[in-house]
Amino acid sequence: MAPVKISIIGAGSAVFSMRLVNDLCKTSGLAGSLVSLMDIDEKRLNAVHNLATRYVKELGADLRFEKTTQLEVSLRDADFVINTAMVGGHSYLEKARRIGEKHGYYRGIDTQELNMVSDYYTLSNFNQLKFFVDLAKLMENICPNAWLLQTANPVFEGTNLIKRCSDIKVVGFCHGHYGVHEIVEALGLDIKRVDWQVVGFNHAIWLNRFSYDGENGYDLIDKWIEENSKDWKPKTPFDLQLSPAAIDMYRFYGLMPIGDTVRNSTWKYNYDLQLKKKWYGEPWGGADSEIGWQWYQERLKMITEAIDYLSSNNALKLLSLESYLKFLPKGSVPEELKEEIKIFTSKDALSGEQHIPFIDAVVNNNAQRFVINIPNKGYLSQIPDGVVVEVPALVNKSGWHVEKIDPPLNEKVVKMYLIPRMLRMEWALEAIMNGDKEILVEILLRDVRTQSYEQAVEVIEEILSLPENEPMRNHYSKK
Ligand code: NAD
Repeated sequence: MAPVKISIIGAGSAVFSMRLVNDLCKTSGLAGSLVSLMDIDEKRLNAVHNLATRYVKELGADLRFEKTTQLEVSLRDADFVINTAMVGGHSYLEKARRIGEKHGYYRGIDTQELNMVSDYYTLSNFNQLKFFVDLAKLMENICPNAWLLQTANPVFEGTNLIKRCSDIKVVGFCHGHYGVHEIVEALGLDIKRVDWQVVGFNHAIWLNRFSYDGENGYDLIDKWIEENSKDWKPKTPFDLQLSPAAIDMYRFYGLMPIGDTVRNSTWKYNYDLQLKKKWYGEPWGGADSEIGWQWYQERLKMITEAIDYLSSNNALKLLSLESYLKFLPKGSVPEELKEEIKIFTSKDALSGEQHIPFIDAVVNNNAQRFVINIPNKGYLSQIPDGVVVEVPALVNKSGWHVEKIDPPLNEKVVKMYLIPRMLRMEWALEAIMNGDKEILVEILLRDVRTQSYEQAVEVIEEILSLPENEPMRNHYSKK
């Protein structure tokens, strides 16, 4: 057991804050450690700090929490830095999306083929991507040996950009591979008897190996499709792993897309809401339709309000289910929120996020299997070395040990999906690293929604003219 310092940047994150606090407090191997919560939003920071300090006390865990709005303070002596910050927040994403829609780009210009996740902006997200690089550069000066656990999106573009601008040790994290568990559950299998692998890029992973007790698991998927797919209905907008879109992608590519890969398809399923509903299910049309994304925003708001309520009522016991029932609307608590509360109120259940078990593996040699985003080193022979790939790996004190990818991905996945997706990452990085606005325009000219050169120029100019995009404007006016 070795105490370490872990900095959480963007600690007020609705998605991650309490999950990370949950896992930290329940990981005995990190006892004695210092957790530095950093966020520029003081209200959110204070709320999370309040809950973290009460939670650790209730659990009787040995952990210290500090809070700061200063990045430099948080990074001092850090061993691990978890970046969950979203510069500009969801409100910026919606603002840029609205401008895109005004100019004829349904769901905004950052929604692109093979990258349709609604908070995964790669073109108009200069402030966010610059923050990634600034953070890495600051780490080089303040905590050069620390690991950067990159969680904020876009993870694929972000980790590649960081790698090209800095020598800091960076690993990208996502929870998309749990889509495999969803398949296993739907098939009624025991996950312990399943041998599986997923590989690709972040939000672009494919089930290259799937066997059950040594038998071909894909036969079981085929049987499920034949017998059950016609009755499929999504429980939430994110319940897409066995959607018609996923099955259609499987038919085309010959492998199952896993997790958010299903959302990252081509326009075939996404031209408009009606089509989204057909392929991603009624009533939402998937997570990235206007209806599905609204649903997600409401869930995030509910989490933020719960954090506010709990943090301003110090008498409430965080480990008691009653505390949450007092706040949540009677009879209509969403299932996935109930599940989160069940984990949070238990004495030992972990959230399923990989960050804290990863740190435990590195610090305490508590070896575990993870699916992580790291530079390719021959793991995917069809992809150039150095490009960040998402692969299964055993992690221990000596670092990551990537599994042999067996069988390798088929040519169709590589040529029709991974290489085009990699090129889109390269284009976005080429634009940002050279401050080249014409590349942004050119990317839009290759977009099925663009009708004219003027349309592409006008939408880029209007996004650049937003007050918060002054740094982006300056950056892109150099060339
Ligand atoms: P959020 O807006 O609720 O949280 C982001 C936090 O970052 C806020 O508290 C905000 O105040 C803070 N922040 C903004 N600018 C900052 C700065 N300069 N320095 C420090 N903190 C700053 O967003 P969210 O919905 O929780 O999402 C957070 C990020 O995680 C997003 O990028 C999202 O796309 C990503 N995400 C990743 C995964 C994954 O598995 N990798 C899953 C879901 C979401």
